[in-house]
Amino acid sequence: MGARAAAPAHGPWEPCGGPAPGVTRAAGERDGACRGARRPGRARPPPHADEEGTPTPATPARRQSTFGFTDWNVDDRPLVVIWEATRACALACRHCRASAQHRPGPEELDAAQARALLTQVAAIRPGIFVITGGDPLERPDLFDLFGFARDLHLGVSLAPSATPLLEQAAIERLAGLGCRGVQISLDGPDAESHDRFRGQAGTFSRTLQACHWVRAAGLPLTVATTVTRHNVERLTEVYQLVQTLDPVRWSVFFLVPTGRARQEESVAPEVAEAVLLWLHMLSREAPFAIKTTEAPQVRRFLVSDPAAAGRSATVADGRGFVFVSAAGDIFPSGFLPLPAGNVRRDDLLEVYRNHPLFRSLRDPDALRGPRCGHCTYRRVCGGSRSRAYAVSGDPLGDDPLCAFVSGSQGEGPSC
Ligand code: SF4
Repeated sequence: MGARAAAPAHGPWEPCGGPAPGVTRAAGERDGACRGARRPGRARPPPHADEEGTPTPATPARRQSTFGFTDWNVDDRPLVVIWEATRACALACRHCRASAQHRPGPEELDAAQARALLTQVAAIRPGIFVITGGDPLERPDLFDLFGFARDLHLGVSLAPSATPLLEQAAIERLAGLGCRGVQISLDGPDAESHDRFRGQAGTFSRTLQACHWVRAAGLPLTVATTVTRHNVERLTEVYQLVQTLDPVRWSVFFLVPTGRARQEESVAPEVAEAVLLWLHMLSREAPFAIKTTEAPQVRRFLVSDPAAAGRSATVADGRGFVFVSAAGDIFPSGFLPLPAGNVRRDDLLEVYRNHPLFRSLRDPDALRGPRCGHCTYRRVCGGSRSRAYAVSGDPLGDDPLCAFVSGSQGEGPSC
């Protein structure tokens, strides 16, 4: 087998002056690697794709830790169910989807309603169930709910905030209750950048400490990073820091301007294109899985790969994915605030399967934006429906993050 080209150690949106400090270039890698990386057709095919069609490592130490669902029937039931257990959170992150507040809202599901929801979710048998927030540790019954879920044989992962509530004892208790994994956010490579993002001094050090506690408790760790114009030029540093935290997965979100996030904080389409290609190449050698959220354009790099064909169960807003808000409203995504029902009165699976909004989001021929609606990649990509809605008010419109121009303007990125 021939030697694999290494992913560029610096991001392709950065000057091609050489690898980042402290990073050794692989044999055969030249400065031009990143320029070649700008052409999707030249990209080396990735060996594997995870549930969002995102490249994952070729020979990861913990490959079995990737989601690994490749033939899920997303018309039948969701692969991923997310429940926003509360909107209460001590942080004030500048891009918070939930516009989280310091106190829980009066409309949030009470303990009995939360148990009823878990019972519904257990019956659906999703591949992944995540309790998020706000900060789910703000819920006084959180540990009781984990115990209840365990009795239902429902695996639960947690996405807490890095606040003083995220103590080592809490993490160990979650591990004892069968928690499947913990996701912790890291948006900058140092305290100054991360804490500015999170709106609270001291969050960076608490984040690193919590990551170590998660690993010490034997729990799979996911590190989540939201890409914005504030941190995009430091993603290489973030990646290097993530490596030291020994996660099973690096989950890279592309900002959707909803909640407190603003469109002007998003990266430009040509920058997003370069970042996605960098992640795609990086995934060949990263010691953990790399997953993207709200950037399905990465799948364009996968379809030219015969080895990856058929391996990707494409999950997107309302397509294999459903979100339940703190008030019980059922959404296609936490970034797409169009309610299709409420778990207090509606059956979650019935809404997912049959509500016209969900059905249209699973139909690539329903796309009506002038670009996505006619794109050759609409079946494998389809664009972020959340971002289309956030920017245009039409969940079936165009995703403004996309740099690709299909058809008469050429089969390649417009940048
Ligand atoms: S135009 Fe739409 S479907 Fe085509 S690659 Fe871009 S986001 Fe995806």
